[in-house]
Amino acid sequence: MMKHISLLGSTGSIGTQTLDVCRQHPDMFTVEALVAHRNIDLLEAQIKEFQPKVAGLVDPDAYKLLKARYSGPTQILGGKEALIAGATLPEATMVITAIVGAAGIEPTVEAIKCKKTIGLANKETLVAGGPLITALATEHNVDILPIDSEHSAIFQCLEGQDRENVERLIITASGGPLRTWDAAKIPGATAAECLRHPTWNMGNKITIDSASLFNKGLEVIEAHWLFDFDFDHIGVVVHPQSIVHSMIQMKDGAMLAQLGNPDMREPIQYAMTYPQRVPLHMDHLDFSKLLTLEFMPPRYDDFPALKLAFEVGAAGGFKPAVFNAANETAVYAFLDDTIRFGDIYKTVSAVLEAMGSEDDFTLDNLLAIDQWARHKATEIITKGTR
Ligand code: NDP
Repeated sequence: MMKHISLLGSTGSIGTQTLDVCRQHPDMFTVEALVAHRNIDLLEAQIKEFQPKVAGLVDPDAYKLLKARYSGPTQILGGKEALIAGATLPEATMVITAIVGAAGIEPTVEAIKCKKTIGLANKETLVAGGPLITALATEHNVDILPIDSEHSAIFQCLEGQDRENVERLIITASGGPLRTWDAAKIPGATAAECLRHPTWNMGNKITIDSASLFNKGLEVIEAHWLFDFDFDHIGVVVHPQSIVHSMIQMKDGAMLAQLGNPDMREPIQYAMTYPQRVPLHMDHLDFSKLLTLEFMPPRYDDFPALKLAFEVGAAGGFKPAVFNAANETAVYAFLDDTIRFGDIYKTVSAVLEAMGSEDDFTLDNLLAIDQWARHKATEIITKGTR
């Protein structure tokens, strides 16, 4: 059956690879909506190629420029409404959330309310809004299919297993570009050094998160919400080659793993074709070539974000939302050269410490605390850099 795709974040790393999957299977997918932030040229090329019903740019200036220069059948939208329109488009049956950060919360909520299947790349949304998003998905009987490679691996390993027999989820981590660095040097790593990821080619924000292990922390919380395992039954192991995408350990000690080359098109396509499997043109894993797989425990003390993620995840409530929002703010400050690498963790810890008592977990309260955490992080960064 044809799947009708709405792609939020079409010009990014996940977005462009999603379109490559669509390109490989024109008989399986039609692209109904394409939404990005401000990359006019790429979006315009994508509109020409895929001819969606609607396309949009969230940035108002970029939207005006695109609207002025585009003439064709696609409806061009701007602002946050473009994201909401993409998420709720009647023609779409599946919404791929490939934008960065908690900006994905509202469109994901709206897509679920319209009963769209969610292909979830935008982990920050599930980290921040886990209780709300999963409850809504249950209420509207909507599948949230993981695109993150680790979660896709766990999802595949869990298929056909009696949940009672599964002891533990084990998420692999490449360890990022600073994996072997001396502890004393890590806080002073530059953005250029952090952006040199050894195995994955991804957007800037997630690449910095991979260097700090905030990304692995976000993934631990994401796994908790996707698979409903408590934090004592989720582990992390460093695996520099990124070939074993993740594992599950059974009650009898047996370990089940999913392997593949580090190419996001594989998990993207599996989410899009699930439960079917279809061919995918990419370099497939080949054991006739020399292959060494290493595994080691994470350096929790030198990359403290991972331990903090387990703590805020287990504490629950709005703590993961604050952890995420403060991290987003601090990562962009680091990329702007306003703070040092080590200050990302310090900022997030300070914002968490400044949290007051918590309200009910509603969407309005979630958006309010997300904004509070961003302001607080900015205030801490400004004071610290004066
Ligand atoms: P990129 O930075 O490469 O791309 C982000 C995309 O989202 C771009 O299309 C960008 O538009 C758009 N965008 C960013 N902010 C907004 C916004 N506020 N409103 C609308 N559109 C926006 O990111 P990635 O593709 O690397 O990551 C996307 C998500 O997927 C993240 O949550 C990440 O953690 C997750 N993920 C990514 C992986 C990867 O391999 N890249 C792996 C697993 C998960 P524009 O180009 O116009 O700025």
